[in-house]
Amino acid sequence: MTDRDIAFHRPSLDAREVEAVREVLASGWLTTGPRVREFEREIAALVGSGHAVAVNSCTAALHLALEAVGVAAGDEVIVPTMTFAATGEIVHYLGARPVLVDSVPDTLNMDPDDFARRITPSTRAVIPVHYAGHPCDMDAIVEIARRAGVRVVEDAAHALPARYRGRMIGSIGDLTAFSFYATKNLATGEGGMLCTDNDEWEQRARLMSLHGLSRDAWRRYASDGSWDYAIMAPGFKYNLSDVLAAVGSVQLQKLAGFQERRRAIVARYQAAFGDLDAVECPAERPEVEHAWHLYVLRLRLERLDIDRNGAIEELRRLGIQTSVHFIPLHMHPYYREAWGFGPEDFPVAFAASQRIISLPLYPAMDDEAVERVIGAVREVVLGHRRPGAF
Ligand SMILES: *Cc1c(COP(=O)(O)O)cnc(C)c1O
Repeated sequence: MTDRDIAFHRPSLDAREVEAVREVLASGWLTTGPRVREFEREIAALVGSGHAVAVNSCTAALHLALEAVGVAAGDEVIVPTMTFAATGEIVHYLGARPVLVDSVPDTLNMDPDDFARRITPSTRAVIPVHYAGHPCDMDAIVEIARRAGVRVVEDAAHALPARYRGRMIGSIGDLTAFSFYATKNLATGEGGMLCTDNDEWEQRARLMSLHGLSRDAWRRYASDGSWDYAIMAPGFKYNLSDVLAAVGSVQLQKLAGFQERRRAIVARYQAAFGDLDAVECPAERPEVEHAWHLYVLRLRLERLDIDRNGAIEELRRLGIQTSVHFIPLHMHPYYREAWGFGPEDFPVAFAASQRIISLPLYPAMDDEAVERVIGAVREVVLGHRRPGAF
């Protein structure tokens, strides 16, 4: 990569995050403390959830969510195949079995009909993933889940902030997990948040996020409250540090501006690619407000004499870094070998996975960078249009 290349992602950090970190370091309190509590209140207020538990990743938040609703060995948890490794692996952490489902063709989100078909008496939870930041069809998913007594744990790693029928993602399912990983819309480097309205799940997740140590037990048993502690359950080490929470609070103040810039870039892309008959632009259904975490272009391979990997290579040569979200879970060696999946077992996700390219989309991109991406994509697509294609 040269200095002239357009990176797939660059974070939007400035002197305000640096100052916030400096203040925390100067305070002498490095681990979970007042900054974390503040960040939790801010996220809960933004998404409209009763509680928010800060943790060190979205993966941890998803694990704690499944543990809180009682997922255990022998249970089944329904997961879209079109997702990142984390959504599937946390099911394994609890000795449960991930049951994969296919996508709908327009948004590549979880197909509610396929979800309904795969419910069995062992199904304990479903994990809708708001792919690229486009909310899933939550009315259908929640309705099917309620009827079957299945808990809804949302993987909202891409969906801060997003709305479905006017409601913020984070206020709809039983529990919702957000990510603050380096590339996400709000970035602390590593970090996550678990949101829920349910007091019992919040308490359980909080307890398990820090070794199963009870604060109530401290109050109950310690004479001066300073040294005594009680292990209530064998928990995990998932707490967030005040250093990163302080970065998160600054990022949160910038989030509305970030989203405005994302939407402006998306509008340029949609306008610039709309007339190319050899690509398909991402859809936004009228009932949602898209978080636009990713801009995923789909190639119409039948109209091109180049495949997706070839297109990525040509874009790279033109100085544009791209990515692929995702290689569906069922196509990876572990899932193929452990569960015997073939590519065609989830035909919509499989077909999409062969023709998707994620273009650079982040607030730190200036107009010149956006126009260079557009120029490169048009050059590659128009240069490889199959002559016989109409
Ligand atoms: C990034 C991501 C995660 C994991 O987030 P971490 O904070 O890195 O644990 C989970 N699910 C999806 C869909 C993601 O893109």
